[in-house]
Amino acid sequence: MQNLDIAKFGGTSVADYDAMSKCVGVVTQNPSTKLVVVSACAGVTNLLVELASGACDAKQREEIIAKVFAIHKAIFDKLDDSAKHEAVIKEYLAVVRDLAVQATMTRTDMITDRLVSHGELMSSYLITEIFKQKGYKAVCFDVRQVMRTDSNFGKALPLVEVISALTKQYLMPLLEDDAIVVTQGFIGADSSGQTTTLGRGGSDYSAALLGESCHAQTISIWTDVPGVYTTDPRLVPEAMPIPELTYLEAAEMATFGAKILHPSTLVPAVRCGIPVYVGSSKEPEKGGTWVRPSTEYAPPFRAVALRKNQTLIVLSSPKMVGASGFLAQVFSIFAKYQLSVDLVSTSEVSIAITLDAGTQTSGLSAIPEALFHELREFCHVKIEQGLSLVAVVGNNMARSAHITAEVFSAIDEYAVRMICYGASSHNLCFLVAADEAVNVLRCLHKHLLEKN
Ligand code: ASP
Ligand code: MG
Repeated sequence: MQNLDIAKFGGTSVADYDAMSKCVGVVTQNPSTKLVVVSACAGVTNLLVELASGACDAKQREEIIAKVFAIHKAIFDKLDDSAKHEAVIKEYLAVVRDLAVQATMTRTDMITDRLVSHGELMSSYLITEIFKQKGYKAVCFDVRQVMRTDSNFGKALPLVEVISALTKQYLMPLLEDDAIVVTQGFIGADSSGQTTTLGRGGSDYSAALLGESCHAQTISIWTDVPGVYTTDPRLVPEAMPIPELTYLEAAEMATFGAKILHPSTLVPAVRCGIPVYVGSSKEPEKGGTWVRPSTEYAPPFRAVALRKNQTLIVLSSPKMVGASGFLAQVFSIFAKYQLSVDLVSTSEVSIAITLDAGTQTSGLSAIPEALFHELREFCHVKIEQGLSLVAVVGNNMARSAHITAEVFSAIDEYAVRMICYGASSHNLCFLVAADEAVNVLRCLHKHLLEKN
């Protein structure tokens, strides 16, 4: 489509009436923004995940539902015709209540997905009404008509070709009209029409998938920070905004810390070379970051990121000496449990691996004990927690002189574990003790990024 921008608004951008009104301002400022993708209102998905756990008794369920209702009521109370909107929200919450009861009997990922999808269904409904009340033509489109996925509930895989065909059929014609089309991030449907989700934080991914299938010129990810920073400004006040970044740098940052872009977001954008803009819907005037296939300025150090709650697993076995296939065996077990491994380092008799202990699947945390059982069957397993992963992101890192000296001399008073360097020329990663991590980050930022 000619000049199509897709705007995605995260949970904090649609947290309440005022925040949603800012989104309307952002969208209507740019005549190319014709498709709007929204997350659930801030906090709602977490509440719904709690309901879906099946662990709440009747009283707790009603308390949670009351909280979810209150968040949406504060929005529709500011609209005309609030009785009508109240009825719509109550209808959605009646389904949520039924599913929450079902979950107490048998909790399944299928029920969880159906239940949590209501966060996006409600936020998209309400923001569409705000557009209309402000005098704009807007329609709310159920993304499940086009966002076809497999049936891996909780972290469903999008079926890109089907999505593209369905988009052409059902969504593109709507975009030709002059109304703004509002739709849901995060959710989809499998081939039998069951609601699925793309995994927590998946709305960015939804926006990028839709960008790809609609041939958008740009994808804008609106959040609560004005773009990507050299590091987390909450941890290091000296952090600076980065005007532009390459896809590869952004992917390293998304995976290794800056939770601003969902790591998978960039995949569809990279596939079709669509530039992605990241900005703050509350302060759009502050500017943001463009993520592009390549950038003119490519410094060796662009950003430093921190990722907490790392689990380090050290596997050792004398059988490894001179053997082949050991790594394959280990990784096939991680694959079986659908755990994504971040860092890997090997010696002749051991392998060290890190895992993110928290956000692997939809709201579920711990690493399954069965994984460790299987590993223990053929090697010695040592697990360590309380570690943070530090990632230094930049360009040509693996090929330039002095990179490691600059990084490690900045932090030579700290103990560093498991250095991973050289696999990508865009990053250097290592582990530090969790209680030293913020200081490490500050030192690195000061020495590598505050110089000029
Ligand atoms: N609402 C979903 C979540 O909180 C998806 C998203 O915000 O991207 O995970
Ligand atoms: Mg979000």
